[in-house]
Amino acid sequence: MRQLETTHKGITLARKKEGIETVLKKFTKSPEALFEKLTGLMRSWKESSASTENVAMGTTEQTAVSQSASPAAGAAVALPGSDTEALGKLSELLAQTLESTLSTQPELTDEVHALTQQVRSIKTTEEITALTKTLRPFWIKVELRGGDKAKVHEGLIRLLRLLVENVGEMIEDDEWLHGQIVILQEIIDNPVDRNVIADAERGLRDAIIKQGILKKSLTDAKSTLKSLMTNFIDRLGEITESTGDYHQKIEGYSQKIGKTNNLTELSHLLDDIMQDTRIIQASALRSHEELVTTRKQVQESEAKIKQLEQELTQVSELVREDQLTGALNRRGLDAAFENEATRADRQQAPLCVALLDIDNFKRLNDTLGHQAGDQALTHLCGVIKEALRPSDSVARYGGEEFVILLPGVSLAEAASAIERLQRELTKRFFLHENERVLVTFSAGVALRAPEEPQEDVIGRADRAMYKAKKTGKNRVIVAE
Ligand code: GH3
Ligand code: MG
Ligand code: MG
Repeated sequence: MRQLETTHKGITLARKKEGIETVLKKFTKSPEALFEKLTGLMRSWKESSASTENVAMGTTEQTAVSQSASPAAGAAVALPGSDTEALGKLSELLAQTLESTLSTQPELTDEVHALTQQVRSIKTTEEITALTKTLRPFWIKVELRGGDKAKVHEGLIRLLRLLVENVGEMIEDDEWLHGQIVILQEIIDNPVDRNVIADAERGLRDAIIKQGILKKSLTDAKSTLKSLMTNFIDRLGEITESTGDYHQKIEGYSQKIGKTNNLTELSHLLDDIMQDTRIIQASALRSHEELVTTRKQVQESEAKIKQLEQELTQVSELVREDQLTGALNRRGLDAAFENEATRADRQQAPLCVALLDIDNFKRLNDTLGHQAGDQALTHLCGVIKEALRPSDSVARYGGEEFVILLPGVSLAEAASAIERLQRELTKRFFLHENERVLVTFSAGVALRAPEEPQEDVIGRADRAMYKAKKTGKNRVIVAE
């Protein structure tokens, strides 16, 4: 997947996919040959990209920058009026990102001001994509100048580019875009580090992929609905040729259905047709019955479409969840912590925080494979969620580290809840190829002091967890 995402000069994504499909088709039956062929294929991407690479561009990372900065096919689409606002927000965000480079590289003031002025005057998607090209040399310059901090900016810019390239996808409704902009705004407003950006980028990519899939099902469902109705109208026309006036009406409906993409309108049209059919019920009784059946099918389709649309709006929120385990991710944890901390302070109630780190996880990965490691993480999360109260929140804090928020319990109670979890894990084994694998963890538990910020209390839990590791692992230690 990484190789697929990495830009190889001279090789389009479509070509890569084609190559993969061919290899998969031919070699699925033999895993060894498949592996070899896939490796060979990826090597060929690298080699052919190296041979066409422009020497002046330097590292592959910079090449990737230049490649992905060019507008994605189909991205340059004029936005209808309702999306202008979203576009405005997007360009403002881009401008702010540019301005934020000044904190590390004030000597670029003039250049940055000129660029931000241009960005703020953007009116169409074409302009944004065209500008991305102009910005390219600037980004490279920023990156070359400022070490790690510039990497942060580069990450931010990559995120924005991801958005810009997907503007074309957002024409139908801008709910999704809105969700992403809120998230990006949060990132820019807070102190950023590379991990936060990497998290956000991963989330955004997942959302984009999911959104693409949902959009497709939605369009399919709508077109099924439309063809269902048009079919019926055609049949109706055949049956009722006797009344010329009626025939014309039906013809009119057929055209209207073809033109609309709007559910409410389709529904109204159907009501009108029902009404008209009833009038000539005597001459076309059968068609009325058919209409009733169609009506039912249409209702089913409508329900499906509504559900798909709902899922679509939820996709934006999905980026608060860790995609592998379904636990909260860092962003989700931030939100949950803020809620719980505010409540605890207001009600003067306790809030405990536990930090768990799986023991010898590297060994599990090394012996059973990375995929088994992934499954173990998901298994652990499942056990945590079942063993703890629904009011407790579980978040994936890092690779194999989890943070649990336990509101309303004392430190001793929280520690024993985590110990109960350890016992639960010795009962509910992780099964790998029907072998029982014991997964253990070490944990630190801390009671949040009133007004104590998240980093501090997690820091204390972390130090306690470290002590648990030092003193033999598979233990729970209470923080000072
Ligand atoms: P310790 O008991 O001291 O915590 O030892 P450990 O091996 O668990 O700790 P260490 O930090 O050395 O290694 C953690 C390993 O977790 C390294 C990394 O390969 C693995 N890991 C991190 N994230 C993931 C993931 O998402 N999936 C899988 N399968 N492994 C991961
Ligand atoms: Mg660790
Ligand atoms: Mg570990």
